Amino acid sequence: MLTADYINLEDELGAHNYKPLNVVLNKGAGIWVWDVEGKKYLDCLSAYSAVNQGHCHPEILKTMQAQAARLTLTSRAFRNDQLGLFYKEICHLTNSHKVLPMNSGAEAVETVIKTVRKWGYQVKGVPKDQAEIIVCADNFHGRTITIVGFSTDENSRGGFGPFTPGFKIIPFGDADALEAAISPNTVAFLVEPIQGEAGVIIPPPGYLKTAREICSRHNVVLVLDEIQTGLGRTGKMLAEEHEGIEADLTLVGKALSGGYYPVSAVLSNKEVMDVLQPGEHGSTFGGNPLACAVARTALRVLDEENLVENAARMGTYFLEGLRQINNAQIKEIRGRGLMLAVEFDPAAGGARQYCEQLQQAGILCKETHDHTIRFAPPLVITRDDIDWAMEKISAVLAG
Ligand SMILES: *Cc1c(COP(=O)(O)O)cnc(C)c1O
Repeated sequence: MLTADYINLEDELGAHNYKPLNVVLNKGAGIWVWDVEGKKYLDCLSAYSAVNQGHCHPEILKTMQAQAARLTLTSRAFRNDQLGLFYKEICHLTNSHKVLPMNSGAEAVETVIKTVRKWGYQVKGVPKDQAEIIVCADNFHGRTITIVGFSTDENSRGGFGPFTPGFKIIPFGDADALEAAISPNTVAFLVEPIQGEAGVIIPPPGYLKTAREICSRHNVVLVLDEIQTGLGRTGKMLAEEHEGIEADLTLVGKALSGGYYPVSAVLSNKEVMDVLQPGEHGSTFGGNPLACAVARTALRVLDEENLVENAARMGTYFLEGLRQINNAQIKEIRGRGLMLAVEFDPAAGGARQYCEQLQQAGILCKETHDHTIRFAPPLVITRDDIDWAMEKISAVLAG
């Protein structure tokens, strides 16, 4: 089958809820992926930061194979020998006290919403069904009805109502707006440390620190969605460390399995998690031994290969390279660690054309919100790889 045949099959038989670049991949290793015609590309999306450890990491593969041959699923009706060790290792790496394992990122977000509401009623004393959660404009937290209900992106929410009540939306990066929005019924503030899907939007310095203070002062649970920013992407294990704070609840997912398996988790510092009693929440696959074993190795790889530190160093180098590009249509170049973006003036006619040209040049990127290209390669990238990439990127983007 040729590229066109695969594309036709997808288009004919699949729902059209994505608009992928027309590249059909069948192999990956490290920062590289290959298409069905044998052409090689540098992956600058990393499956939205799910393959921070690089494609098909050999250590994670070994664990996946060994655990798959031993035991894959017990359900939480019984215990398994991987879950406790996974808890111990992720708590150690992220300085957390409690863990609730789920599968997708959206499920972790839903878990947090349930948990902070329950905490609000049981601990904070919010009257029944009055709990409010504050979120930010231009957020991205996933695709369930509740989550898209508090999105401000018309594409994400339009046509899907009615939605779950109980959310208040404030501008991102505005600590005064947070303070003003808090009422006695506010149970939590849910925010991304850097808004990824919105186009790598970095809040003003001190924002998270101030948000931390405000939440503490008003007895509001601070929830950081680090599903994209976490696990090394921004040059720290968790992006909260850039401002020296600790969230009460932290969400991780994506790179938690290095791209092998859907694994997410809610990490808790404050003992908010203790409000959940047996039977009140769960997931058939959440915390299964295969997921836990894979996640344990994915975390070990981040640690042993110093990928967090590499992300910081390579991110700085990549950003310097991008800043050399001369194009009057570029509005802003920004990034933290290996989460980088080039935003074009709306007059440039959209970022998609550049992504298609980069594809021709052997670099896979995806536009976010029409005018921005995100660069987020696997964290195993080297200086030489960046030099190779920057030659191509500047040739395309300077055009
Ligand atoms: C990807 C993402 C999610 C949703 O994760 P899924 O696994 O796709 O459900 C939630 N929050 C953020 C910040 C994300 O980047």
